Amino acid sequence: MKKIAIYGKGGIGKSTTVSNLSAALASKGKKVMQIGCDPKADSTRNLTQGVKIPTVLDVLREKDKVELKDIVTQGDLGVLCVEAGGPVPGVGCAGRGIITAFEKLEELHAYEIHKPDIVIYDVLGDVVCGGFAMPIRGGYAEEVCIVTSGEMMSLYAASNIAYAVKSFGKRGYASLKGLIFNAKNIENEEELVTNAAKEIETNIIHKIERNPLVQKAEDAGKTVVSAFPESDMAKEYRKLADLLFG
Ligand code: ADP
Ligand code: SF4
Ligand code: MG
Repeated sequence: MKKIAIYGKGGIGKSTTVSNLSAALASKGKKVMQIGCDPKADSTRNLTQGVKIPTVLDVLREKDKVELKDIVTQGDLGVLCVEAGGPVPGVGCAGRGIITAFEKLEELHAYEIHKPDIVIYDVLGDVVCGGFAMPIRGGYAEEVCIVTSGEMMSLYAASNIAYAVKSFGKRGYASLKGLIFNAKNIENEEELVTNAAKEIETNIIHKIERNPLVQKAEDAGKTVVSAFPESDMAKEYRKLADLLFG
């Protein structure tokens, strides 16, 4: 079982990228589990036809006895979808919520029962506090990738995430695999991201172009890989899947 965490600033394209990766891997016959670790709880929306699935934290609040099927939903192409969820707005700690969700999955033997080949964590990276750093620590993910565009705030988040990974890395936790460049088509973008990668002392794994097919697929509640498998954009996501998972 290979476990990888994808971090990045809110709105940068993590969930879009991760769900297309999951779809690309699943269409190659891999059993994939995608775990959304963002209080927005919309990581897997393009694998469930836009329908929101119950979050682990919601289910825990509503049911006394939680079963695995309550928190793991089979999505498009058989991808196993999980959303950690978040606390009631204004109350509680989102990071703590992630930890609770991870503990519940383990307690219910989610990995032994579903036996995924690949687990992908889709993690919000605006705050890299103890809770949101959980996938990096505690043996959850082996590798971390950071989604970024050339925009200053997303590069700023990328640098913070890289710093956290490196400081934990010294203690034998996850290592930084590199940046996934999700283009926003701003001026000098290539140069900005290349320079940031150098500064962070990492590499750009792959550049994903901005493409309106993403929205078209999204409107149908699907990934590009599933809705437009023959498109160049689907090929880009499949290429990224090969680069990350061989
Ligand atoms: P995050 O998970 O980082 O908050 P999302 O994956 O939800 O971000 O992406 C935010 C929006 O950006 C999505 O609605 C999606 O349509 C758009 N988007 C992401 N990547 C691309 C891309 N490569 N081309 C076009 N639109 C994109
Ligand atoms: Fe929790 Fe992190 Fe928010 Fe603090 S910053 S309340 S630890 S999620
Ligand atoms: Mg997201």
